[in-house]
Amino acid sequence: MASRFIYLDHAATTPVDPRVVEAMLPYFEEKFGNPSSIHRAGGEARAAVEKARQTVAELLGAKPSEIIFTSCGTESDNLALRGVAFALKGRGNHIITTPIEHHAIGHTCEQLAKEFGMEITYLPVDSFGLVDPDDVARAITERTVLISIMYANNEVGTIEPIAEIGKIAREKGILFHTDAVQAGGHLPLNVDKLHVDLLSLSGHKFYAPKGVGILYVREGTPLLPIQTGGGQERHLRAGTENVPYIVGLAKALQLAYEEMESEVARLRSLRDRLIQGVLERIPDAQLTGHPTQRLPNNASFVFKGIDGEAILMQLDLAGVAASTGSACSSGESTPSHVLLAMGIDPLLARSSLRLTLGRRNTSEDVEFVLAILPQIVEKLRAISPAYT
Ligand code: PLP
Repeated sequence: MASRFIYLDHAATTPVDPRVVEAMLPYFEEKFGNPSSIHRAGGEARAAVEKARQTVAELLGAKPSEIIFTSCGTESDNLALRGVAFALKGRGNHIITTPIEHHAIGHTCEQLAKEFGMEITYLPVDSFGLVDPDDVARAITERTVLISIMYANNEVGTIEPIAEIGKIAREKGILFHTDAVQAGGHLPLNVDKLHVDLLSLSGHKFYAPKGVGILYVREGTPLLPIQTGGGQERHLRAGTENVPYIVGLAKALQLAYEEMESEVARLRSLRDRLIQGVLERIPDAQLTGHPTQRLPNNASFVFKGIDGEAILMQLDLAGVAASTGSACSSGESTPSHVLLAMGIDPLLARSSLRLTLGRRNTSEDVEFVLAILPQIVEKLRAISPAYT
């Protein structure tokens, strides 16, 4: 077993930043109060949650009352979709989305269609995974209640034209949600510039802990809670607030913004070296996703004739952690729904590899992968009947 450990799976999750841990620590033991309690300990916890809400709101260009803390990106997506669908059920039953969304959106839409009679339009994407805003405009009907399109794709990193789509939605008076879980920490998220009514984020994608998320909800947006109970989060998300994690989430988002410009430039240069090196050194390697309109940390490929999971195992033995694409779909035997929607042949789609860089990665990490990956692919192809 290699003692080396190079983590290249930051789209799956990130380590918690020590500065975030430090900000959270007092809220586990010393300042442990329930924000709903009337006494001093409760007040202290309430103040911390509201300060975090203020910080997040400022970073997104929103009002504090528009920020709802949730337990994860999945919950934020569920609340956006179900919350709007249920609130507007008297007005319409049509949702517009894409076939490349995360399952948090895809499976929610499937259930809304099957159990609640919603009609779902899945817009086409091109071979880079891009949605055409004109298709969004054409898909809107009198029954449309919501458009939900992700900001950046978790498998191939393609960045969608959210601001353009948002403008169309606004002009037509249709609510617009974006799943910005993968964009968080990498791209600016000003809700007015993006023209979004709802936006989902997840802490563990930008160096906060797993199990805490955000749903931005523009003032006046009709939304029913999907989790009922106490009156927390303006009655939109019942449950005692996870105070330490909310504090950590706000700290992590603030750090990501402060360091975004330099970190994005650094990641982009590492990513480009990785992409260029792989394409130069490995025959029949193909970049997936858009060549330039992609997340600064995402390098994803298909390698004709071999199995992506076999590559992962070999990389793991060499001390490199990577992914075939979505963490949530690993172990499933069907090829990625994202790659299929982009028109990639099902057999080729099985050969996917996603390398996602992060704060601790260096150019030595990239050079190491460029040294071992061509040998791994060559070795696997030599024993693969599918490679001709
Ligand atoms: N949406 C996207 C695009 C994601 O990549 C993920 C996680 O990978 C999620 C939603 C779900 O977020 P969480 O893991 O916080 O539930």
